[in-house]
Amino acid sequence: MATKGLFLAGTDTDVGKTHVAAAILRSLRLAGSRVAAYKPVLSGFASVTDESSDAWILWDAAGRRGDPRDVCPQSFAAAIAPPSSARAEGRRVDEQLLRSGFDARRSTGDVVVVEAAGGLFSPLADETLGIDLAREFSLPLVVVDAARLGAIGRTLGIVRAARAEGLRPAAVVLSHTTPPGADDGPVAPRMIAHEAAAEIARRAGLPVSILDHGAQQMPPEIDWLALATG
Ligand SMILES: [Mg+2]
Repeated sequence: MATKGLFLAGTDTDVGKTHVAAAILRSLRLAGSRVAAYKPVLSGFASVTDESSDAWILWDAAGRRGDPRDVCPQSFAAAIAPPSSARAEGRRVDEQLLRSGFDARRSTGDVVVVEAAGGLFSPLADETLGIDLAREFSLPLVVVDAARLGAIGRTLGIVRAARAEGLRPAAVVLSHTTPPGADDGPVAPRMIAHEAAAEIARRAGLPVSILDHGAQQMPPEIDWLALATG
């Protein structure tokens, strides 16, 4: 039973959480850890065996043990908040399965990486927000944001709110969600991310990592296993 783990929460949806979770899983695995991934609930995919779904990507990054359905026990097709997506199918998100699914996953690895849906305060089920699971699972919190303008304000807001709720933020990751390209503004995203990371680290007192678009592993400056040990 994994007693080590990380809970990844976004500042918003579409900020690159799955990319970061997959990179952390690969980095831990290459360093010799037996990892397990868990996605409590997924919306926007009719099937978790869709190779572009979070569940499939996490299953792949975790070493393809078992089945993608083990990584995410409940998914709903409409790309809206999970409780609404479930209702659109005449179903409800199973509140108990959000929790029992975690226990099942952590029994298969030494380190479990949990990717919540949406932001820290996004609804996962009728009665459950992301932060509720973060508290119950009692894992160090990794705050993920997109490496674009506004990252300082977004991440500090979530870090402070998490602390006010009694959680332990352990790190921040800024994720490049698009490749460097022609539609970059006058200040390059890399420059924005670099300066934001330094400012977040200083103001939040947390290690901050930057993940390049398409990178398969985390840069080496953070010891993720030590962080997962809490
Ligand atoms: Mg995701």
